[in-house]
Amino acid sequence: MTDYQSLGIRPMINAYATVTKYGGSLMPPEVLAAMHAAAGDFVDLALLQRRVGERIARLTGNEAAYVTSGAAAAIMLSAAACVLRERPDAATCFPRIASFKDEAIVQRGHRNQYDFAVRQTGMKFVEIEPAPAALRATINERSACIFWFQGNMTSADDIPLEDVIAIADESDIPVIVDAAAQLPPVENLSRFTKMGAALAIFSGGKDLRGPQATGLMLGRRDLIDAIRPISSPNHGLGRPLKVGKEEMMGLLAAVERYLKLDHDARALYCEDTVKMFCQSLNPLAGVKAERAFPNEAGQALPWCRVTVDPAAVGKTAEELVQDFFDHDPSIAVSPLNDRQFHLNPMTLNPGEELVVRDACLQLLSKA
Ligand SMILES: *Cc1c(COP(=O)(O)O)cnc(C)c1O
Repeated sequence: MTDYQSLGIRPMINAYATVTKYGGSLMPPEVLAAMHAAAGDFVDLALLQRRVGERIARLTGNEAAYVTSGAAAAIMLSAAACVLRERPDAATCFPRIASFKDEAIVQRGHRNQYDFAVRQTGMKFVEIEPAPAALRATINERSACIFWFQGNMTSADDIPLEDVIAIADESDIPVIVDAAAQLPPVENLSRFTKMGAALAIFSGGKDLRGPQATGLMLGRRDLIDAIRPISSPNHGLGRPLKVGKEEMMGLLAAVERYLKLDHDARALYCEDTVKMFCQSLNPLAGVKAERAFPNEAGQALPWCRVTVDPAAVGKTAEELVQDFFDHDPSIAVSPLNDRQFHLNPMTLNPGEELVVRDACLQLLSKA
């Protein structure tokens, strides 16, 4: 039998988040069915990418759409698109593109671990202080694009996105929004591009619950068309980021499902689950459980912050995170520091909240 157990791997309950290291999210039956059906026939892959993109664009209210092998891949390709849009001859030069526009501007606070996806193209980041004057002074003939990372990198000190876009427009520089984890709300699929961002990027394997190895690029047709020649099935910078027919159809099904989903009912489940966690855990000595909002990635869903007094519980939060992991069934919770962790309802299957609660009652009252 080809399954996880046969490899000595215990599947886990995910009370952490849509994190890649634990598999992102789970594909619903509609997505699996679409992938299964897609796997049964040969098709023209470039044409499929176009048709899937057209449908996703129409459904999400965008000019164009493109399926990538993840949001990180979309970050890399969108940076490349901003070079290629004026200079298709850069295609054979990546990553040696010093003779092309090779600067990506970013506000200092937005630098993060996905920077590498941009630098792989040969482009460099130019960091600016969060001030409109700094942005204006930095824009020059080498500026290819401006990156905006939406989520916990975004802060009140930033130049607001609207202003970044307005300033960028003065010099015809595309603004790319990495919104990989910014679903829900579903409206975000068109929010950033409606604001004037050239491209908005989402993970297919987070809350969309598409195939784990997919991402979505939404926005300007000229930029999306610019990367087709260098992307699978064609050869170039994007060829190692191949997307299969199963992933394309799976992501399409995931988007269709997500647009029809009862997001209010889902938010209610999360609220109820957090409430239940709080009611169950707060009577325990040395434990405080409270609703926190929004969650770690800034998604508009609540999660439960658990604060423990190590003296009363007999363990630090870090030790407890490990205990949850070692528990049967294994449970991933979101670590914060030596006194706090979070329980995230967004990745739980219905019914698993009770398993998580019971594990909490067992592990937190062990003193
Ligand atoms: C998750 C995430 C990514 C990477 O997404 P993948 O689909 O796993 O490649 C990029 N940027 C941000 C802000 C993310 O949260």
